[in-house]
Parts: sequence; C-alpha cells; structure tokens
Amino acid sequence: MLDGPHSRNRMVDVQIVGRGVRDRNVLDAMREVPREKFVDPGFEEFAYEDSALPIGEGQTISQPYIVALMIEAAEVKPGDRVLEVGAGSGYAAAVLSRIAARVHAIERHGALGEAAEKRFDRLGYRNIDLRVGDGTRGWPEAAPFDAILVAAGGPAIPQALKDQLNVGGRLVIPIGDKHRTQRLLRITRIGRTGGAEFQEEDLGRVMFVPLVGEQGWAENGIRAATNHVPGHSAGRRLSEMIAAVAEPLPDFDDPAFGTAFDRFSDKKVVLLGEASHGTSEFYKARAAITRRLIEAHGFTIVAVEADWPDAAVVDRYVRHRPSVTSNEIPFRRFPTWMWRNTDVAAFIDWLRDRNENAAVNARRAGFYGLDIYNMSGSIGAVLDYLDKVDPEAAAVARERYGCLTRWQKDPSTYGRAVLSAGYAKCEKAVIAQCRELLAKRLDYARSGGESYLDAAQNARLIASAERYYRIMYYGGAESWNLRDSHMFETLQHLLEAQGPNAKAVVWAHNSHIGDARYTEMGTARDELNIGQLCREHFGRQAALIGFGTHTGTVAAATNWDGDMEVKQVRPSHRDSYERLCHDAGVQRFLLDPRRDEALRRRLLEPRLERFIGVIYRPETELVSHYAEASLPHQFDAFVWFDETSAVMPLGPEHARKGVPDTYPFGL
Ligand code: SAH
Repeated sequence: MLDGPHSRNRMVDVQIVGRGVRDRNVLDAMREVPREKFVDPGFEEFAYEDSALPIGEGQTISQPYIVALMIEAAEVKPGDRVLEVGAGSGYAAAVLSRIAARVHAIERHGALGEAAEKRFDRLGYRNIDLRVGDGTRGWPEAAPFDAILVAAGGPAIPQALKDQLNVGGRLVIPIGDKHRTQRLLRITRIGRTGGAEFQEEDLGRVMFVPLVGEQGWAENGIRAATNHVPGHSAGRRLSEMIAAVAEPLPDFDDPAFGTAFDRFSDKKVVLLGEASHGTSEFYKARAAITRRLIEAHGFTIVAVEADWPDAAVVDRYVRHRPSVTSNEIPFRRFPTWMWRNTDVAAFIDWLRDRNENAAVNARRAGFYGLDIYNMSGSIGAVLDYLDKVDPEAAAVARERYGCLTRWQKDPSTYGRAVLSAGYAKCEKAVIAQCRELLAKRLDYARSGGESYLDAAQNARLIASAERYYRIMYYGGAESWNLRDSHMFETLQHLLEAQGPNAKAVVWAHNSHIGDARYTEMGTARDELNIGQLCREHFGRQAALIGFGTHTGTVAAATNWDGDMEVKQVRPSHRDSYERLCHDAGVQRFLLDPRRDEALRRRLLEPRLERFIGVIYRPETELVSHYAEASLPHQFDAFVWFDETSAVMPLGPEHARKGVPDTYPFGL
C-alpha cells in the first residue's frame, strides 16, 4: 500500500531538496498536494517516482522536480496571480494554488481539463480557474499576471504571454527548435515599454511535450510562430582539452594496451565498466586490462556481473577443477550473449592456459559471479510459470525486470508495468518455486564442494531467500539496491577468503561501477551501487573505470526475455559526455582527468551520459537511455571507443549468426 505522506516527504527530500530547490513555499506546497490523486488509476504506486507519467491523450504529468524547479524559478509568492499553460493532470496548478492567491490554468485537451477540474473539486482547491483552449494566447481578461508557467515546449516565446506579464512578472517556458528537448527560459518584465523591456535567462536543458497552438507548434509538428531560439554552445574548446589529455590506446593485443592501466596496479579493487551489455570492444578492453593485472600485478579474482552458479562452472574450467556434471552449460538464460560470446570465451581460454603454468599454481586466478544467487535462473523460472498461468502478469513482470537494468524512465513503460489483478495472486506460488529452485541449486553446489558456499553462507542464502524473491518479484528501486548490496557483499567474501593481500578486478555495467552518488541514481532516486560501496569501503584502494562510445552496433533485446538483435547505436546526443569525447576526434583513448585539473573541473558540471543495458530502445533513446551524471566524480578514468560493434554470441540458438559453441559453454 502506498503511504502518501511518507512517500511525499521522501520525494521532496530526495528529488527536490536533494537537487537544490530551497524555496520554502514550494517545498511546503509539494509536501501537501497528494500527487497520487493526479495520476490514472493503477499508477498510484509510481506517483512519487522521479519521472513523468502518462495521463492520457499522449500527455504526461511533469516530473516532480521540474514542477518545483519551475515554480521556484517563477518566484511565485503568496498573494500572486498566476497563469499556467498546459494544466494536464492539474498537479502543477494544484501546487501553485497552495502558494498563490489565484491560479488560472489552460489546457487544450477537453478530457484532461475536465479530469483536472474534478480533482480540484474533490480536494477542495477553490482558487483555481481552469479553461479548455489554446494557452499560447494567454488569458487576456485575467491579465496581468505576476507569474506565467508554460508546461509544454514551444519553438519561440509567445508574444501574448509576454504582453500579459505584470511589470516585475516572470514567465518560465521551455523553448527549443526540436521536439522533446528544450532550454528552460525565464523572462522577466523589467519595464512597461521600449526595447529593453524584458530580461532573459537560460535555466538549463529540459524535456517537455510540445506546446501546440497559434503561437506554438502546429498539430503536425511544424513551427507555427517564428522567433529566435537561444544559442547553445557545443563546447568545442572542451573537446580540444579532452583531445590534449586523451592517451590514445593501441590494439587489444598490443601489450601497451594493458600497461596503460599500470597506474591502477596498486589498487585492491579495479572496477571495469561498460556502456552496454553487448559491445565487443568493452569486453576486449576489459580482457586486455585484466590480463595485465593478473600477470604483472597479483590480481587473482575476476568477479563479474553474473550468476554465481553459472560463473562457478567457468571457474572450475579455468582453475582446472573437476566439473560436477558433464552437461552443465552455463549462461543459458536471458541475456545469453552477455557472457556466452566469443570475447568472453577467448578470455576464459587465456585464463585457463595461464592457470596451467606450474609457476602460478598456488595463485590461480578464478572467475566468480557477483549477482544475487541464481538471479537470472530465478527470473526465468518466474516468467515460465507466469506465461503458463497468467500471461498478463507475465507481461508486467517482463517490464518490471527491465528495471533491473535501469532504462525504465520512459513514461510509456510505466503503463505496461502497472500491476494486474493476477500479479499479487501469483506471488505465493512464484516464491515457492524460487525456493525450490534455490534448494536444488544449493544441493548441487554442495556436492561440487564450492568453498565459498560454506554452511554459514548456505544458511544465509536460505534465510533471506523469501525476502529476496518477494522484492525481486515486485521489482523497482528496492530490488536495485538489494542487488548491488549483494554484489558488494559477495565481493567482500571473495576478498576475505583470499586473505589480506587479495586483489580483485570487477566487470560490471557503468551503472553498477560508477559511483551512484554522482548520477541521477543517487541524486534523484537514493539508489546506491557497487562502485559507491567500494569507494566508501576501500577509499583510494578502489579504482572506478568507465567506458563509452559514440556510435556503431550493439547486441541487445527490445524487451526483457526477448531475442538478441544487432541494433544500430544512434550517434551520441549533443548535450552528452559522449559527444564531447567524439568531438575530441581520437578513435580510442584513456582519459585520466586527474592529469589536467582545469579539464576535470569543467567536466564536473553534470551532462547527459548514455546507458544501454541488455535492452536498447533507440526509438525512445533520450528518455530511456540517457541520465545526468558528473563524470569525473563518477569515475576515476574513462575509456573511449568512438565506433564500436556488437558482440558475437555463442551457442546453438545463434548457430546461423554465431560460431560453433565450445566448452565450457556447451558441446
Ligand atoms: N502541468 C501539467 C503538465 C502536463 S503536460 C501537470 O502537472 O500534469 C503539458 C500539457 O500541455 C499537456 O496536457 C498538453 O495537452 C498541454 N498543452 C500543449 N499545448 C497547449 C496549449 N497551446 N494550450 C494549453 N495546453 C497545451
């Protein structure tokens, strides 16, 4: 059940105060208005998420932070008369009505306008007048206004809205030449007539639905009015600074590739990221770096974002230990290509050969899975079961599991993730199944004598299984934190088992290994990750190394549990770190921002960064795959490949596209 006041306060503290909004009036009003009353039935669970949500007619209720940012920017005060253009659900108007004396709100969709009015009535908010119509013309009879807020993005500032501002009044409006991304502008009326009547400020990049009307976009997306669009510098000089500091990297087979990373050789934990789960260059680079760390610097643990039991099969192979049964083929569950690919196979064979050498016998390097014990096995079993008993619940589960890979920011995905009636009913059966699966797995592991799984570990797994599976079944932010905390604990166990001098290399996605506190995960959702936990625990003994690319191809699915496809990666967004790296004009490089303090400082300012997981949806890329981050805080170094290509999967299901399967991945 949703606890409104609790969720609301948390939303204000984490998403709004956390991002720097300080206006008391705004914070108090947002603590008061029940946002769950402004979303469609079924969506209440998501009402306090850091996201826009669908409200029908292809429109969205604005992200809470944006509502706060706009009201603060418009300096709305008690006693003010305010106009809102684009009332939508009515949420922002409701928040405004808790501060201002009178709110006028205009919405062009009749159905949305009516629903908003009903909400105001039910909540007893009586100081709001709502009209259905084109808000680009303003509301002349009610003018002038102390503040005007426009909740949709137009090509230019409508003259009518400027005319209806009081002297000293503020107009806050998103303006951009393209749909979906705009600059948020504040226009202040400083005089009654004459040239310098208005003052204009740029408050940063935002994303709104289009402002459709006489002085906005036409219905078909063509610009209706003409006016200037504020200039935006692409930061050319910054990319020149990157080019000057970038250390070009040679071929993966060239020993110089690995030695470029010798500066991290004294660390206890080196975490190597990836910007997708299906890019060959990221695997090859991590293999080259890891080979060097193992051979020259005493690292003996390779711990990867994968299931323990599957990685254990590979571990037995690379450490020349007997296999438990002959037909155990690891990584058969979605997403198979993530570990069953030619790059991983080549690395595993190298590790096995290297471990065979008598000289290293005592310090053989192992291969371990950090993920929640048998996570993809459990998810697979849940989906198989739901497919049989309740396909509707299965569809919801697939959408929710997509969240584990952090791409669920696209408002339309919430619609598909709304719980169906059958979902809760299936919970008991699903958890029982998962427990049974776990028990079988553990029996099997015991017979294989896995040292990590001692009696205490076993007991811990079984005791927490119920809670794990329940959280995993419902998905969302809690399952993310559970998963990353688990990964960190597993890493700690592995290190402890090998004594005080143990050193580990971790392979996991950038979203896991880049310090969450400096990305939207931490700043807006209060989520943590293994990179952050390693820094908090190991301090300077941990190195966090991120990876990125501009364009190329990637192996990914469209939906959770879907088939692997080779997709084109869209060229990086103009406001992203990736675009800065691309503009540096160096094909592949290591960027160590510590080498140039001026560059480091300039890169600190948050920008977009792209996250492609096992799912990639290029059609909605900006909303589903980009998030804001401060890169030099997030990573200690960044590895760049301008153009990249998809991994080559192994295995019978990819027989036509791939290459013959080899042990340990199959027959
Ligand atoms: N403030 C709203 C945000 C809704 S999204 C909330 O908190 O829920 C923006 C809304 O602007 C959409 O509902 C869209 O229909 C509306 N809109 C777009 N162009 C408009 C125009 N010219 N006049 C009035 N409303 C408009």
